[in-house]
Amino acid sequence: MEIKGHPIKKTRFIEQANSSNLCIWCRKKKPKNIAHIISKSLLVNEKHENKLKISVCRECNTFWGNTIEDWFLKYTPIGHWKENIRNIKTKKSISRNFKFVPNFIYLEYFKEWIVINHSEDGEILPTQIFLTKENKFKLFHRISNSKYTLDEIFKQFTTAVKNREYSIYKSHLLDVENHPRLFLHKGKYILVAKSDDEAESFVLKFFSCNIKNEAIQLIVDNRIGKIEQMHVHYKWSIKRYISLSSKIVFEFLTLIKGAHFTLNPDFDDFRSSLLNPTSKYDNLSILNISEKGFAVKRLNYPNWITPCNNLVHNSKARIPTLVLKDEDRFTYSIVIYKFEDFICATVKLFQIEHSKIIIAKTTTSLDKIYAITYSFKDDIFNIYESSENVTDYDELILVPHYKGDLEKFDT
Ligand SMILES: [Zn+2]
Repeated sequence: MEIKGHPIKKTRFIEQANSSNLCIWCRKKKPKNIAHIISKSLLVNEKHENKLKISVCRECNTFWGNTIEDWFLKYTPIGHWKENIRNIKTKKSISRNFKFVPNFIYLEYFKEWIVINHSEDGEILPTQIFLTKENKFKLFHRISNSKYTLDEIFKQFTTAVKNREYSIYKSHLLDVENHPRLFLHKGKYILVAKSDDEAESFVLKFFSCNIKNEAIQLIVDNRIGKIEQMHVHYKWSIKRYISLSSKIVFEFLTLIKGAHFTLNPDFDDFRSSLLNPTSKYDNLSILNISEKGFAVKRLNYPNWITPCNNLVHNSKARIPTLVLKDEDRFTYSIVIYKFEDFICATVKLFQIEHSKIIIAKTTTSLDKIYAITYSFKDDIFNIYESSENVTDYDELILVPHYKGDLEKFDT
């Protein structure tokens, strides 16, 4: 458990006195208040090391709260994760039947993935016939506001298959448990499958049986109220997400290295680009992509990116991506390190793909690799550092788990 001979150890940091008294964001001498590095509503209990008390001014704090954090908590899947955290606090159960998969929802009650219609009109949970791994058909149908009888529905689906009056939506990104299915969307039939083979086996099976007699029926009736609550139109913005990730990194960097480090003019471009975004934030509503894209998976930019306006970098540059091994144990994990002249960071919040951010170009040394982890299951927050200056990395930082055996790794 080490980085090519460089062990890492758990450590603690206390916010250092800031003799200049400047805010790390606006570089002005304004009254400070407490900045929560990760929004406190995303932690079960507040953590001392998640706070900056004397480095961020009230105004800048408000800026981050109002323009970025509130937006994520209100409109995006992060809001749902927050609800889960709140449920842990109040000892309510976690909404386990909510799995974040765009355009499909897993209904625990039926033990099935169901296609969701995220456009403004039409049935939210469209009638759909799927072929299970036991090679059986299941009909999912919401009875409440249906114009048709089940007999008529079977007939319509059968006609559509026989006449091949459907389009195919194929994606290998679909969940392994997601069975091929045919559903009606705005008057058109769409066959959803992971591959051509799967689509074809669906059709062949359909031809070879009497669907009306064979299909197991899952009829939705009075449980619909609950399902409606689970149906949410999300917004998402990669730019805002990069801003949020960058803010978290910069504030942890301030905690770790001190405000004198982050007040360095090498970070001015970073600061001003984030505080004065030049272009409008992208504001795309995921899930609702007219009749296409039923598997919008990516919520983040895949390559290295910088929020800085003037920093020249190559997004495909061979910057090693340092992430934690077994990072799924952590609700959040952040790794900060230097590669050549770049201060780089990977940020993973919840199940969102890593942000790979270049914070600044500087010749100032960072000395070590730092990793910050939080697990909301155990409500444990930790900071780790490499034991010496590391210049050549493995692609993975292997961080020991937070319980027990930590000392072993640093001897
Ligand atoms: Zn400020």
